[in-house]
Amino acid sequence: MKILIVEDERRLAATLADILEHAGYQVDRSFDGTEEEEMAEDGMYDAIILDIMLPGLNGFEILRRLRQKKCMTPVLILTARSELENRVRGLDAGADYYLTKPFENEEFLACLRTILRRPAEIVTDILSYGDLILNPSVSRLSCRTLSVALSAKERKLLRMLIHNQNQYLSKEAILLKIWGYDTNVNTNSVEAYISFLRKKLAFLHSSVRISVVRGIGYKLEVSE
Ligand code: CA
Repeated sequence: MKILIVEDERRLAATLADILEHAGYQVDRSFDGTEEEEMAEDGMYDAIILDIMLPGLNGFEILRRLRQKKCMTPVLILTARSELENRVRGLDAGADYYLTKPFENEEFLACLRTILRRPAEIVTDILSYGDLILNPSVSRLSCRTLSVALSAKERKLLRMLIHNQNQYLSKEAILLKIWGYDTNVNTNSVEAYISFLRKKLAFLHSSVRISVVRGIGYKLEVSE
């Protein structure tokens, strides 16, 4: 099994490489992750150990790019920053596990074994469109460094828009898909939820917008 370590602290990187090699893994090391990103996309590695604070792109950005390119290699985020917000952001960006420094060697190896065992489907439900990443399992929508929680209906609506990104969706189709045959709701609810989603896209400073053609329906677009 081949593991990539992206860590700019040379001593820590060397220590981690020793631990992994001792445990029988093959290891490549990178100090900023930029060149290795392509190799990771090609599926060269069985797992990636990723630091957050790096000299070039930060770890979240590297992770986001990998996931956007449908690279589903398991990722273990390693960082000294233990704030909850970072933890959530890492998971939003598609990390499989989060380990805060300092940690015991055994704990590190156990985490690695966990992510190596994890089936790929766990992360493949992450959807992306333009600069947006939707993680349906935790119902959070991220855009670069910002993220926001979505309600269940907002999440379903956005998923539907992403899955049908090449066509306009009518209010009636959305109503049927999201509310089913509930007779207490009408297309006003669809308009209300489209407006909630638009507010969240604005909050995230996303370049994605929901365009509308009267009488036809809604569609996602990336504005220039
Ligand atoms: Ca670092």
